[in-house]
Amino acid sequence: MRYWCERAWLDSSGPQPGVLIEIAGDRIVGVSSDEPRPLDAYRLAGLVVPGFANVHSHAFHRALRGRTHGDGGTFWTWRTRMYELAGKLDPTGYLELARAVYGEMALAGFTCVGEFHYLHHGPGGVRYSDPNAMAEALRQAAADAGIRLTLLDTCYLAGGIDTPLSPEQQRFSDGSAESWSERVAALRSDGTMRVGAAIHSVRAVPRADLSTVAAFDGPLHAHLSEQPAENEACLAAFGCTPTELLAKAGALSDRTTAVHATHLSTRDIELLGSARVGACLCPTTEADLADGIGPARELADAGCPISLGSDQHAVVDPFAEARALEHGERLRTGRRGRFTPAELGVALASAGHASLGWPEPHLDLVAVRLDSERTAGCAPDQVLLAATASDIHTVVVGGKVIVKDGRHERLGDVGRLLDDVIGRLWG
Ligand SMILES: [Zn+2]
Repeated sequence: MRYWCERAWLDSSGPQPGVLIEIAGDRIVGVSSDEPRPLDAYRLAGLVVPGFANVHSHAFHRALRGRTHGDGGTFWTWRTRMYELAGKLDPTGYLELARAVYGEMALAGFTCVGEFHYLHHGPGGVRYSDPNAMAEALRQAAADAGIRLTLLDTCYLAGGIDTPLSPEQQRFSDGSAESWSERVAALRSDGTMRVGAAIHSVRAVPRADLSTVAAFDGPLHAHLSEQPAENEACLAAFGCTPTELLAKAGALSDRTTAVHATHLSTRDIELLGSARVGACLCPTTEADLADGIGPARELADAGCPISLGSDQHAVVDPFAEARALEHGERLRTGRRGRFTPAELGVALASAGHASLGWPEPHLDLVAVRLDSERTAGCAPDQVLLAATASDIHTVVVGGKVIVKDGRHERLGDVGRLLDDVIGRLWG
């Protein structure tokens, strides 16, 4: 099998016509352009780009979409609704929901997802007979949907700084950082799933336990300064910002990704940049939850690779995230072109894969239609600023076609799957 692309944009040379991709197993071994289509090659129409990485996901939050706007509310009232939902999930229900959510991601062109996983145990914190039953549900869900998963197993021990867990939060906790560490050590990587670690936030992991989580050998993610209240609590308790606290705990390095990084000081940006910490912004979620607009350009200029995530999945659309990143910058600064289309492409692909511990090149390809009512007439090198998830025609993961003509090859009608499982959850 080899692929022939009408147009492909696979490296810094920009979109090229007639690109022939030679493969061996699930790896790309040769790329050449201006080639006529060989009769034995699989044809990919439109613009072919590397598969997208959704660096920050809480799969179960998808069930909140379109259900939290009735009375306005705040980030904190949204969180109460999220806890209500979390209380309804068991491993079977979680598999069904996550399979459908990862199916939606595949349709949108995401070939890899970072699942920030803290829904570990049963209600009240009771352990399942397999303490990793919820993680195994996510592994199976990703395998069924045909996408790669980095399970960012999340340490979550406290309800806030010097605040005990609420009853709803009990099931997120392992009781101690050592117990978290032992449970995570039992998780195995395979062809679908790699294992990483996460500090939920400086709210949820006590200061003395940060270094235990940071010692995990692999990708390390942390929610960072999403809300001003987190900064205020941290300053009041420790006299430093959340970024400074993570730095003191040895949690900032080039395998760390700071998620959100919305409310940062100049010093915070210097610390993150000098440690080459990645910054995963989640612009549609940050808009939906009224978090604010983070200093993305300043972070990039300081040395932080920028990646993107759909987080609570109010929207699952890589183009919407990339556009919202650039639009936030425009609204914040009154200037256009803060990120070039090529930089947005890097944020969606190689920077995201590196953050999730899949840095090596994989045969993950996405074909974006250039003939839809949204993309017709666009210059191919600017289509990221115009397309939507509906313009994904074909998705290839590890050399397998998982989406063809906008339809999931294995899961079929993903909208119906989502409707069924979310309908059952809310009754
Ligand atoms: Zn999150």
